[in-house]
Amino acid sequence: GWRDEEPATIFDKLMSGDIPATVVKQDDKIFAFKDINPAAPAHVLVIPKDRSGLTRLGKATEEHTEILGRLLVAAAEISKDKELGFGDGARIVINDGPDGGQEVPHLHVHVLGGRSMQWPPG
Ligand code: 5GP
Repeated sequence: GWRDEEPATIFDKLMSGDIPATVVKQDDKIFAFKDINPAAPAHVLVIPKDRSGLTRLGKATEEHTEILGRLLVAAAEISKDKELGFGDGARIVINDGPDGGQEVPHLHVHVLGGRSMQWPPG
């Protein structure tokens, strides 16, 4: 499938500290950090520490139910963090594959905020 052959991505280097990142939150399963090229005043990415086949959301099966829930709960908590620049609400985005505009083949949830968002997205 799409970029499935890639064993690792830049996100692994962020998690290992080989490349610096502003870490916002992490626990045993998830890792959250500020996007280096923010598309909004507040822009955080939430990823599973263990990609475990989830190069993209389209790879998800029932075995991923728990980690998908953990990612969304973390996104909800981050979206309420005023110190990160979030206001009242956020735009939660998962870009899935080529048509979704995904670039990094390690599932990630975008949490965008600090301004009001437009709908539909471009
Ligand atoms: P995608 O287009 O795959 O949904 O989003 C990938 C995101 O990762 C982009 O918003 C991009 O700015 C972010 N990103 C790519 N490389 C790095 C990096 O080295 N550090 C950080 N913090 N974010 C990155």
